[in-house]
Amino acid sequence: MSNLRRLRYTLSLIAGLLLLTGAPQTHAQQANLKPNVTETKPEALGFSSERLQRLHVAMQQEVDQKHLPGIVTILSRHGKVVEERIYGKKDIASGAPMTRDTIFRIFSMTKPVTGVAMMILYEEGGSFIATWTQGQVTASKVLIATGGLDVEPEIKDARTAVRDGLIRHCPICDAYEATGKRIGLISYGKCRTKEALLLRGYTADLTVLTLGRPAYIPEEEQRVLVDAGINIVLHPISRLARDKNQVAAWYSDEEPPLIFDTIYSALGMNLRSQLAVSVGAKVDEDGALVVDLHQQTSVAGLYAAGDIVRGLSQVSVAAGQAAIAATAINANLPSLRY
Ligand SMILES: Cc1cc2nc3c(=O)[nH]c(=O)nc-3n(C[C@H](O)[C@H](O)[C@H](O)COP(=O)(O)OP(=O)(O)OC[C@H]3O[C@@H](n4cnc5c(N)ncnc54)[C@H](O)[C@@H]3O)c2cc1C
Repeated sequence: MSNLRRLRYTLSLIAGLLLLTGAPQTHAQQANLKPNVTETKPEALGFSSERLQRLHVAMQQEVDQKHLPGIVTILSRHGKVVEERIYGKKDIASGAPMTRDTIFRIFSMTKPVTGVAMMILYEEGGSFIATWTQGQVTASKVLIATGGLDVEPEIKDARTAVRDGLIRHCPICDAYEATGKRIGLISYGKCRTKEALLLRGYTADLTVLTLGRPAYIPEEEQRVLVDAGINIVLHPISRLARDKNQVAAWYSDEEPPLIFDTIYSALGMNLRSQLAVSVGAKVDEDGALVVDLHQQTSVAGLYAAGDIVRGLSQVSVAAGQAAIAATAINANLPSLRY
């Protein structure tokens, strides 16, 4: 049964399962008494006798543990009554037993309705509960777009340097702003050769650097870089510092620093995929969520878009992926008929 149909079914079930508890009015009115209902076999109406037995035990416990003085339940479906049960007393002081015609004041029915609806959704595979400091929401489909945080090179006031365009992350986004400038492309040991070749299209003064750890650039890749006119510094850069509107990079204490107008940082991104992983979603070796053509992760009903998915780290890509996911989600929602 689909989530929504199940939810609707549950709500009508709750309407049918009239659970009367709490403070019965002790002067029970005797008006409008109907004859005792005829019970239909639970299985004939889609219920399990065995599971209903658990309900009886739970209700009786409420009374035995003195949480409630007495309870009346009526369970019905399709206009037929499955069962009627009466537990406990309607008046503790006099010891008068609860009767099927005891009249109750009813308060706050939203909680049981919402509570049961949530439990049904939770019971179903592929249902999610998102919790935050001020509340929680349950959904049968989730689109997660928690992005990632670029790893910044260690440089004083890195954020200001990013804002001023001295440190950049996305050549495809903004390399045109650094056209013809002295550019350094810094990574941790492994050169991003494709990124270097892309940047080379914007400047003739490009140097490939490695931060803090030895460079690992296979000879074949080094040849490609050199052939493209790209400089390679194999000594690890030990320190970066802002020098007015430039960045100085030291690879040796004895030598003067290399000076760049812009450093493109290719140090990686810490993806915020933990939430998705916590419900079982698969990630690749970089921690990016693995998705299908509709942006659905390996967990049914959980979709992902943006930087959290392997891709181009661009706003337009994130928005496009979100549109694909939203369309798939919409197509897979049960249709609403009112
Ligand atoms: C300096 C810089 C410049 C860039 N320039 C460009 C550019 O010019 N053009 C371009 O197309 N792209 C650019 N990008 C890339 C672009 O910003 C990203 O690709 C895009 O924002 C990704 O969108 P997203 O929704 O995946 O993630 P984000 O935009 O990072 O949004 C994720 C959101 O989820 C929130 N979040 C994370 N975890 C939780 C949680 N548990 N609960 C609640 N909220 C959570 C985060 O706080 C954040 O607000 C740039 C990126 C940087 C860093």
